[in-house]
Amino acid sequence: NIRPQRRPIRQLDDAAANRIAAGEVVERPASAVKELVENALDAGASRIAIDYADGGKRLLRVTDDGHGIAEAELPLALSRHATSKIDGSDLLDIHSFGFRGEALPSLGAVGRLSITSRALGASSAFEIAVDCGKPGPVRPAALRRGTAVELRELFRATPARLKFLRTDRAEAQAIAEVVRRLALAAPQVGFTLTDRSGDKPREVFRADPATSPDALEHRAREVLGRDFVANAIPIDAEREGLRLTGLAALPTYSRGAAVACHLFVNDRPVRDKLLTGALRAAYHDLLPRDRHPAAALFITCDPQSVDVNVHPAKAEVRFRDPGVARGLIVSGLRHALAAAGHRTATTISD
Ligand code: ADP
Ligand code: MG
Repeated sequence: NIRPQRRPIRQLDDAAANRIAAGEVVERPASAVKELVENALDAGASRIAIDYADGGKRLLRVTDDGHGIAEAELPLALSRHATSKIDGSDLLDIHSFGFRGEALPSLGAVGRLSITSRALGASSAFEIAVDCGKPGPVRPAALRRGTAVELRELFRATPARLKFLRTDRAEAQAIAEVVRRLALAAPQVGFTLTDRSGDKPREVFRADPATSPDALEHRAREVLGRDFVANAIPIDAEREGLRLTGLAALPTYSRGAAVACHLFVNDRPVRDKLLTGALRAAYHDLLPRDRHPAAALFITCDPQSVDVNVHPAKAEVRFRDPGVARGLIVSGLRHALAAAGHRTATTISD
């Protein structure tokens, strides 16, 4: 019966705290891409370029033409819980993808990170680098506009995590999935995804900025394919302050896997059991058991009626009234599908 020895409590240093946070925020290269692209979107970018090499393990780079970071604020961007997006007074009043101030310090703690930025109106660009938690000085750099964040040797500081990564091919696929999902969330923004593993760069995905009123349809064609759009019906429904819009495929265009189901809450891509459950319920009786509906659905609501501060990767949300969200999806889709001639045999309560 060996009792653990008592040891003094001590405060971990920043590098250790950031590595721990990174464990939750950055699971794989694709999660780093998600954080960096979200930052670019939050900065009001109209074009975002994503480059990677070796499934993102060797290199990840996200370049945007957004408002940039001021020279004096570059060290702050790398410090934990430092953000320009909220003032901390109301965690239910969030209008940006980011708000935790954790992504950049986390990434800087587990790899070699550099941020080059030229703030809007500034006459030149500056750069700061951090290598596995050790930040360097702010230095003059060359960049015409916006921000370029580069991450090399991801997880060098956490070999355990490195070991759990899958093949370059699988990691690259996960990166492409994240980019396509965010591209769907922001049809007005142009995206290019380039694989720089080999001698010649290879364009993996490209979506041009869409400005027309049917921007979503345009973008859905690029992301989900012409077939999806040709077989989809527009959705527009409302319930108690929650609005549901987007495109949902007819049951005749179902998929063998649940990959074609994209859900957004206030433009944030979410993976949510409640919402996917509602989507399945809406198609109940219209689809064989092993088929999945394809859809790109957007719930828009007052930020106050949904809590996004649930999960470090911000992939989950909590509605103040989950029943309303569920009912909106089930009845909104049912009505649209019925109007298109696809009526369910049984009635399931909304
Ligand atoms: P958060 O996004 O939660 O604020 P991050 O660690 O991702 O936290 O970023 C910290 C801060 O750095 C942001 O609040 C923002 O001010 C700035 N920043 C990060 N990326 C960019 C970017 N691409 N363009 C402009 N500012 C950025
Ligand atoms: Mg962020």
